[in-house]
Amino acid sequence: MVRASVPVWKFSPHYYHLSTSALEAALRKVAAYREWRQFDPGPNHHIDARYAAMPAFTKKDIRQNFPDGLLPACKDVEQGLATGEIELVETSGTTDDKVTNFWNQKWWDASERASWKLNSYTHEIATGDHREAILVNPRNVGFVSDIIDLPMEKRRLARFLYLNEKTNPLSWSSTHMDRMIDELNTFQPMVLEANPSYLARLCRYVAAHNKEVFQPGIIVFTYEYPTNFHYRQIRLVFSAPITSSYGTTETGYVFMQCENGNFHQNTQFCRVDFQPFKPEHGGPLLGRILVTPLDNPWCYLVRFATGDIVHLQESGECACGRHSGVILSSIAGRKVNLTLTCSGRLVTLLELDNTIGVLEGIDMYKLIQPDARTYELHLVSQRPDKERLSEDVLGVLRRLYGQEANIAVIFDTDIAPESSGKYLVSRTIFPVDLDDYLDKDISLKND
Ligand SMILES: [Zn+2]
Repeated sequence: MVRASVPVWKFSPHYYHLSTSALEAALRKVAAYREWRQFDPGPNHHIDARYAAMPAFTKKDIRQNFPDGLLPACKDVEQGLATGEIELVETSGTTDDKVTNFWNQKWWDASERASWKLNSYTHEIATGDHREAILVNPRNVGFVSDIIDLPMEKRRLARFLYLNEKTNPLSWSSTHMDRMIDELNTFQPMVLEANPSYLARLCRYVAAHNKEVFQPGIIVFTYEYPTNFHYRQIRLVFSAPITSSYGTTETGYVFMQCENGNFHQNTQFCRVDFQPFKPEHGGPLLGRILVTPLDNPWCYLVRFATGDIVHLQESGECACGRHSGVILSSIAGRKVNLTLTCSGRLVTLLELDNTIGVLEGIDMYKLIQPDARTYELHLVSQRPDKERLSEDVLGVLRRLYGQEANIAVIFDTDIAPESSGKYLVSRTIFPVDLDDYLDKDISLKND
């Protein structure tokens, strides 16, 4: 049997230079990586092989080493804070997920600007002083005000307008959504950045009430995985081009979707290592990424496990002509979104979403897997024929998870986001250890 292999990507000499500096600085100077020195095959080996020999760095590692263990001794945190070069930011999330990071605004802005080049529309529109409206949970960015409505001028910051100050989108009234529509019409943003679930919620309202909405130059999805239903609901209202931007507080902007739908690596600002799953779990084109931020004087993270599950573009190329770095055909969700079939095969959010996405008339859904063969699907739908919908859902889910799957379909009137402000579409209640699914046998070309 001929085994499929991962594509070969092209990288600039500068990328390899920055990759080498990042790894060597961490191993030599940063306490958190002291134990990693034993894994380094040494400078006579290709840098990709040196990275491949290293473990992954996790949020738990950040928590255990913050602050001094994450920086070289020569870096003075107090001084960095005093001069305003850095701030401390806490990522939103559950207790397990929460970490404090050093935040270097200058590097972050530069990473964002570089990511804009990876899509023709953002490359043209995003000049750095363009008007941008943002529709997200204010817990992630913006101004929180749950009781009092903030007037527009209180939700402006530089070139940004934050359309929503409420932490719970279930509290959005028609007045609140009319205000968003009016403000889009008045502010006329070039870019509309949005959590897809939040924009889809607004679009369901706009479509149901036949409202007119201003069309921005481009819509950029952030923070959440956009489902097929989100796309459909948003497309009923917006004809503007749509792209997805992927990154984390720790790593800056990592992937941007180009105008042809593939995702390109932001090679100037991060190194990406790909670890494929075993073939029976979708490898070698499906796997996880480990990200090393490049050239950030306040970040020495190496092989940070962002939690993103990705699907490689098999050809290693894209018709848009951008050829530097890793190219993905899709982001397949996050580790937390993985579920398992009754026979134990990994199911990504992408696969689940494409399965449920064939159905019509679903506003939102959430799939929870309490144990190996039990699944709870929560559905929000305006369809009157709930029994028919229920049967259809059971049919497609049994084909995916197994005929023996024990599936409960629960109709809800609405689904709230998690405390992080982001919507959860799928997860297991039991732990899934990715190490059990990664293909350790696949070796890098440059070994
Ligand atoms: Zn492309």
